[in-house]
Amino acid sequence: MKKLGLTALCGVMLFTSSTTAHATERLLPGLGNTGYDVQSYAVAYDYYPGKTQMPASVDITARAEQTLSSFTLDAVARQVKSVTVNGLAADQQLDNAKEKLTVRPRIPLLPGLPFQVRITFVADRSLEPRSPSFPEQDNFDHWTDWNGGFELMGQPNRSHLFFPMNDLPSDKARVSFRVSVPKGYQAVANGTLRSERTKGARTTYVFGTRDPIPTHVAQLAVGHLTEFKGTGPHGLPLRSFIDSSKAKQAGPRMALVPGQLKWVEQAIGAPYPFETYGVLGVGGVTGYALESATLSMFNADYLTAPPSDGDGTMIHELVHQYFGNAVSVKSWDDMWLSEGHAAYYTGLYQDSKGQRKLVDFMRDAWQFESGERPKYGPPGRVTDLNGILFGTNPGGAVTLYALRQKLGVQTFQTIEKTFFERYRNKAASTQDYIDVVNEVSGQELKSYVKAWIYGAKTPPFPG
Ligand SMILES: [Zn+2]
Repeated sequence: MKKLGLTALCGVMLFTSSTTAHATERLLPGLGNTGYDVQSYAVAYDYYPGKTQMPASVDITARAEQTLSSFTLDAVARQVKSVTVNGLAADQQLDNAKEKLTVRPRIPLLPGLPFQVRITFVADRSLEPRSPSFPEQDNFDHWTDWNGGFELMGQPNRSHLFFPMNDLPSDKARVSFRVSVPKGYQAVANGTLRSERTKGARTTYVFGTRDPIPTHVAQLAVGHLTEFKGTGPHGLPLRSFIDSSKAKQAGPRMALVPGQLKWVEQAIGAPYPFETYGVLGVGGVTGYALESATLSMFNADYLTAPPSDGDGTMIHELVHQYFGNAVSVKSWDDMWLSEGHAAYYTGLYQDSKGQRKLVDFMRDAWQFESGERPKYGPPGRVTDLNGILFGTNPGGAVTLYALRQKLGVQTFQTIEKTFFERYRNKAASTQDYIDVVNEVSGQELKSYVKAWIYGAKTPPFPG
């Protein structure tokens, strides 16, 4: 992200069953469940203009990590109508205050075995409870309605307002959206258009991802949208969408995307990781942009501004497709691995385009980081919600810059490429990054990196 400005069970089962969430997130306790691992979500909505409620369903495929007589999903909904597990009706209880749906399957789930859950529910875009851990800091609409349509902003812990899920950044899954809309409306979501069928006055769009993505970058937009198609490096299909009322002015910025992809591939030393890319320009997005997987989201006004105004934010969100999305963070305490890379490569890009010297970019970041660390906390141990969303950008970037200055450009580039390739389609932690640094450099740099990531004070500016 970038700121811009069961009922009766035998005793054995009860001993090993699990209904509660596991405390895996230091800042967002209660979020997620480590008792199972999700492989895919297939979400369906029927959209009706002027109504916030949408008939909805989600089909989840997952694997039990332990015996489960019951399990929870993160969820907020107007109503849950029915739940089946492996085709059999299950008991269910929705608690919107706790943001949990508890499911008791007819037959307990066994460790290592796959299971399917089907939930029919009523989604309601007027249900916007604030983040339970930091209600005073949750200043965004997450169901973002604008101009007769809507889009999603789930980062870091609000995507379960959209559909029941395991809302942990480490539990990646393939996501598809099947959305029916009336005439004149389009729907677009992560991944590739799989089908588009019109029946009577309604059209049903199905979009899905080829690869697993973290839940916080799930995206679906409905509205009056105009599509820009193109081709990127190696024939990569590009598709971007913008609010149709702004489409006429969007051409120059849309034309930048193939060149940006080429630059980022060369800088990171690895091909773009997903099956498609594009940008989404919509309303209701104020003061931020979001790295929605395969479809970075911006305010439509940013995408219609002249390219001479700078395209650093486009680079930032594109780099997140590598770091943050393809390599996701194991916990929110590792968010600097996502934001730090997005900011670092933005600095490198601006330097390569003669816009600003890398050292100046990094000195500004270091100065900001030194001043803000007492407020946000160190990048690996931020103090609050704003820290997760925005506080790890400069500190993470300067940490990477410090390593580059210490080890030299070539060794640093090998670290980056190795880390990306090793953790692509997986989740990585700070320790995972340190292990790659040590392995590639042949040095013991654990305490050096830890001072940057966890220290109470920002280390001196490199060099
Ligand atoms: Zn970011």
